[in-house]
Amino acid sequence: MHQLLLYALPILSLVIIAIAYVVKQHRTKAHLVDTSQRLFSLLSISQDAMMLLDSDNTIHYMNDAMSHLLHVNDTRKILIDSDMPNIHYKGQLKRFKDFIKEEYVPMQDPKELSYYPQAQIETRRQGKITVDLYLGKTYSPEKRSEQLVIVIRDLRETLRQIASGERDPLTHLPNRTKAYQDYQILCSKHHLKQGKVALMTISIDDFLITQSLLGHEQADKTILAVTHAIKQLSLLHTFHIYHLTYANFLLIFPEAQSTEDLFQTAQIIQNTISRLYEEHKSAAYLTASIGIATTPESGAVTDLFNKAHEALIDARKYGIGNAHLGKETKVNHSFDESALQHDIQYSIERKELVIYYQPIIDARTRKVTAAEALMRWMHPELGLIPPFIFIPLMEKTGFIIEAGRFLIQEVIHQQAKWKVFGFEAITVSLNASMREIEHPEYISYLAEQLKEHKVRPNSIKVEITESLAMSNAEKMFSTLARLRGTGVTLSLDDFGTGYTSFSYLTNIPANTLKIDKSFIDNLLEDEKSQQVVHAIIEVGHALDMDIVAEGVETVKVAQLLTEFGCDYLQGYYFSKPVPVFEMQGQLRQRRSLNEEHETSRKGTPGDILPLHNL
Ligand code: C2E
Ligand code: CA
Ligand code: CA
Repeated sequence: MHQLLLYALPILSLVIIAIAYVVKQHRTKAHLVDTSQRLFSLLSISQDAMMLLDSDNTIHYMNDAMSHLLHVNDTRKILIDSDMPNIHYKGQLKRFKDFIKEEYVPMQDPKELSYYPQAQIETRRQGKITVDLYLGKTYSPEKRSEQLVIVIRDLRETLRQIASGERDPLTHLPNRTKAYQDYQILCSKHHLKQGKVALMTISIDDFLITQSLLGHEQADKTILAVTHAIKQLSLLHTFHIYHLTYANFLLIFPEAQSTEDLFQTAQIIQNTISRLYEEHKSAAYLTASIGIATTPESGAVTDLFNKAHEALIDARKYGIGNAHLGKETKVNHSFDESALQHDIQYSIERKELVIYYQPIIDARTRKVTAAEALMRWMHPELGLIPPFIFIPLMEKTGFIIEAGRFLIQEVIHQQAKWKVFGFEAITVSLNASMREIEHPEYISYLAEQLKEHKVRPNSIKVEITESLAMSNAEKMFSTLARLRGTGVTLSLDDFGTGYTSFSYLTNIPANTLKIDKSFIDNLLEDEKSQQVVHAIIEVGHALDMDIVAEGVETVKVAQLLTEFGCDYLQGYYFSKPVPVFEMQGQLRQRRSLNEEHETSRKGTPGDILPLHNL
């Protein structure tokens, strides 16, 4: 709801304030009172600061954001002039009162607000801040006088996000990077709620032609008008909006209704966009094509990003201004390999490669003590490409070397940042193929990065797959010994799928065995798997190795593995791989958990469950 209100438009706010105010004055019908209460609670949590002020400075309404901004207690009835911020305007610093007197020009249409974009205001507590200021007049029948509507939108966070590349500089909407982050969060939490989720891609048809007809300035204005229109609809239809490319938008519906409702919303959006022509007297008539993807019709939640895009392409096939629902396809991932091979070379410089972290939990204490870094590739057109497609491609093209350096640099830098910010130390594992490790510069680069960022080498663990490690034993032993020489620890990944003989296992300088997911998948049903897993744990322990089980998806599996003496657990039951800031959230929870001496706490999405819950 909070995020939704972030997009609430001040124009709508004015209408809501006015309705709510009128309704509050005339508490006649029960449902009106109900509506008014709902509207007031909406306004009270809005991040936009809002106020309704009489000419004699009596406060008629002030929401929490405004009382915080002005540093005025919300029980105050009357404002004094110095409560209001001064405004920097046209090179002058004006008192708020003078600004209203000298600069404020009410709009012709009383429903609309005058807009002062990126104004600088001087607040008592927070100093100078950049805001969007909206002013309007409304009439109080009771007082028979006009009241001033003031809406102030703090732009600091928005400007920060634009600077850090999370928002589009034209529309100020969160961009593709942010869309992808939010989508990943949605995916990682979906298994907890299992509600209906939908994504919609909107593309203004033939906008390149429109742009050349209108010229850049007018085209920008048109895109802003489209943004404005979709934003207004977001309030009623509960979706988040993202600006992907110039004429392409993405909507995420975290709690979607039926497919019919989605089509209806698509229709409303298309009609609204087409009507802009009349409303804005724009020189161009616009149509929009829409691709829809929803669970379960289009597949799993993790498929939706791709499906929404495919659906848009399909919608276009039938002409302009269509909407199309992407259907689940059984033939998965028919990617054009040579095109991907080309695109992957640019994935780092275009910031399409991101690192996700999956927590690893101590089986006895149920605390996060480590994490595995896993690479994600967000393709600009195809959406998320799974690692089992892109890692082999990277290996084939040799790009894996560059990607590996990127991974090392990101992970080590992240460890350094966590240390600076006082997070408790965790070990981070990173995956490396033998091809990477055998590259002449891999080990030296790793050592160099550890030194540069002053990161303890034993806080990094390198995971190599068992089968790869076994391919050329002699060479491998000497490489792994050099790798251990940097101080990092080693883990044998996918253990149980290769052909490690006992003698190799006793000689390999690994500290950890990671039991392959395939044994864990059918652990409960298959007695053989249970015996194998039990045996691996015993053998590993006999060789002084820690045991990690990956792919732990249920409480029962977690319990059984703990009984078997497995040291660490990793899997969707605890958390999916998550973006860095979510990982941080989990680490923060752990810290507060420690500080609270492990008092009871409720499970929240992505939370690590305490021992007594298992
Ligand atoms: P892996 O090293 O065996 O990584 C574990 C995989 O299991 C990850 O898939 C993880 O998301 C998934 N997983 C973890 N817990 C569960 C669970 O409870 N249920 C299910 N169904 N899956 C679970 P992901 O991220 O798709 O990675 C696939 C493989 O891609 C990795 O397998 C690894 O071999 C490779 N990979 C990923 N990132 C990198 C990288 O940065 N470098 C290299 N060389 N390989 C990477
Ligand atoms: Ca791994
Ligand atoms: Ca594995």
